[in-house]
Amino acid sequence: MTALVIAVDGPAAAGKGTLARRLAAHFGLPYLDTGLLYRAVGRRVLDGEGDPRDAGVAEAAALGLRGEDVQRPDLRGAAADEAASQVAAHGGVRRALVAFQRGFAAGGGAVLDGRDIGTVIFPDARVKLYVTASAEARARRRWLEVSARDPAVTLAAVAAEMAARDARDAGRDAAPMKPAADAVVLDTTALDAEAAFGAAVAVVVGKLAGG
Ligand code: C5P
Repeated sequence: MTALVIAVDGPAAAGKGTLARRLAAHFGLPYLDTGLLYRAVGRRVLDGEGDPRDAGVAEAAALGLRGEDVQRPDLRGAAADEAASQVAAHGGVRRALVAFQRGFAAGGGAVLDGRDIGTVIFPDARVKLYVTASAEARARRRWLEVSARDPAVTLAAVAAEMAARDARDAGRDAAPMKPAADAVVLDTTALDAEAAFGAAVAVVVGKLAGG
């Protein structure tokens, strides 16, 4: 029996991080937030005052990525979101991060969340979830999070940034964000975290039972 890999893909603020972390705890698997890899690459580029849209600069930053880069405290927020999505559009950056992601699940399996886990990184994953929600619901969730830290941020600004990032992630040539043909789509617009978790566990259990 091959190790259990659970791929959790989807757009920003659909709830996939929370869900993937809970699935990992429930099924006793390690968890990898692959967005942190792209965020750390983006940060390295910004540190060097480079342009994340420059493929050569971004690829060099990806090849030089170290463990401590993904533990930086400044990987969240609008600037990091934007830089991550810009470096993630380069095929060279994506290729530089493949081996690490595959190695993470080698042996014992894992839950990974991202944009291309079910399509590119683990096309043979036993379970693939594509977690999504309406653009309005996702923007509101992200705004509630962000405005707790920075009350000046408006819902409209968060919605616009998120729409631009989703369009770039879905429209790029290299591993565009999309559900794998065999992914189960979980729409969390009307679900709270508990209900989404219950639905996801049911999908995993169904797949393991041969469904
Ligand atoms: O998931 P998160 O929002 O942290 O990801 C940040 C950015 O990194 C995304 O907008 C996307 O451009 C990129 N990403 C990706 N592939 C992944 C994970 C993240 O392209 N597997």
